[in-house]
Amino acid sequence: MAVSLIYPPRCIGCGDLVDSDFGLCGVCWRETPFIGGTVCESCGTPLPGSADGFRLDCDDCMAHPRAWSQGRAALLYRDQARSLVLALKHGDRGDIAKPAASWILTIAKPLLENDPIIVPVPLHWSRLLKRRYNQSALLALQMAKQSQLQCCVDLLVRRKRTESLDGKTREQRYVALGDAIICNPRQKFNLQGRVVLLVDDVMTSGATLTACTDACLRGGAAKVRVVTLARVTKQ
Ligand SMILES: [Zn+2]
Ligand SMILES: [Zn+2]
Repeated sequence: MAVSLIYPPRCIGCGDLVDSDFGLCGVCWRETPFIGGTVCESCGTPLPGSADGFRLDCDDCMAHPRAWSQGRAALLYRDQARSLVLALKHGDRGDIAKPAASWILTIAKPLLENDPIIVPVPLHWSRLLKRRYNQSALLALQMAKQSQLQCCVDLLVRRKRTESLDGKTREQRYVALGDAIICNPRQKFNLQGRVVLLVDDVMTSGATLTACTDACLRGGAAKVRVVTLARVTKQ
């Protein structure tokens, strides 16, 4: 209470004062493409029509079945959502993680069953030094705080530095990643027979999330689900 009097909540988009913890003012909220309604069960992309009780997957996920069992994203990666993701990733705007985590938890509600352990997609240590924080770990920690679920930020590690995946084709992304991501031997016990909820800021082709899913399954996880703040879609 005292803290919010000194630091009143501000819109994470434009900085205006807001009167709730939701994170965005009315104007920025309208410019932020939240995903809702019918979605692909694997990646969270919005789908036309209404759900009929059966599992729905988008064309992309039908053509390339995912290694994980379910996936959701809170936002479409464009407009104000793109600015927020970039600010969280490169702009030293860790304050975005708190409201962003609440948006992810809202859309991911069906994925929170069976007491999943929350695990962020790892950064290589050299990138961590440069950026000083891992945006996915910030999201994961906030999600754990708000949901009371367990979180293990160093369950996965990147043992080699991979080039940026930007501008690469789907196949090139998978090749570039190879076996770059592994289970941290010291944290492996946390994984045995557990459902894992992988967290990343953006899903594009899903190559990084696939590498992380494979590492979790090899390490003893029972099942892997994925959530991202934003999903890049084709249109
Ligand atoms: Zn605003
Ligand atoms: Zn999909």
